[in-house]
Amino acid sequence: MDRTKITINLKALLSNLKYASARAPGKKIMSVIKADGYGHGAIRVAKTLRASNSFAVARLEEAADLRMAGINSPVCVLEGVSSERDFLRARELGLQLIVHSRHQINLYKKHGSNVPIWVKIDSGMGRLGFSSHQCLEVLKSLNGLNLIGIISHLSHADDLTSNRTEEQLQILSKEILPIAKKQKLDFNLANSAGLIGWKESLSDWIRPGLMLFGVSPF
Ligand SMILES: *Cc1c(COP(=O)(O)O)cnc(C)c1O
Repeated sequence: MDRTKITINLKALLSNLKYASARAPGKKIMSVIKADGYGHGAIRVAKTLRASNSFAVARLEEAADLRMAGINSPVCVLEGVSSERDFLRARELGLQLIVHSRHQINLYKKHGSNVPIWVKIDSGMGRLGFSSHQCLEVLKSLNGLNLIGIISHLSHADDLTSNRTEEQLQILSKEILPIAKKQKLDFNLANSAGLIGWKESLSDWIRPGLMLFGVSPF
């Protein structure tokens, strides 16, 4: 007994995807498989969950690994890229990028191209993204790029007693959703906790990670 072994039931993974999908009928699924598929092996997980509309990883290198393994689904790099070299690589690999900073706006515009871009709005996470009142101006500044949608993250959705999520949902539905609708952009919000705990957070896209691996966010 000198080795530790992990056995992963791929059928269970697929069943979790179906469960997520059933909770959000008609919504598109961006399956989050960052951190090597939450430790389960991102390539194996992606192959199992290929029915997802797209995948999300944190970094460019993770996305490159998926492409090298022959995974052709849309893949979104959640932190975007911050150097010219990385932008060109992402373009070559046919990846989707997030834009969350002025630096990235300038970088992506420099190579103005058909790379699909999501704009990150910070609705209270206090981590990455533009504030909701900057949204219109940021969208304007991205004119000419292949903008596909607006993405945001619920910072406290795993705490059902906190009123932070309610506040965030209000800001998003009042200030951001109308802009997305008007500009025909997809809106992408709910992580696992949003999907399970906050019906109001269901948007055009859902973005589950944890729950795909059978973990409750609560
Ligand atoms: C990790 C992550 C997710 C998935 O969150 P879970 O809580 O694992 O469902 C969704 N969106 C972003 C931006 C993330 O970083």
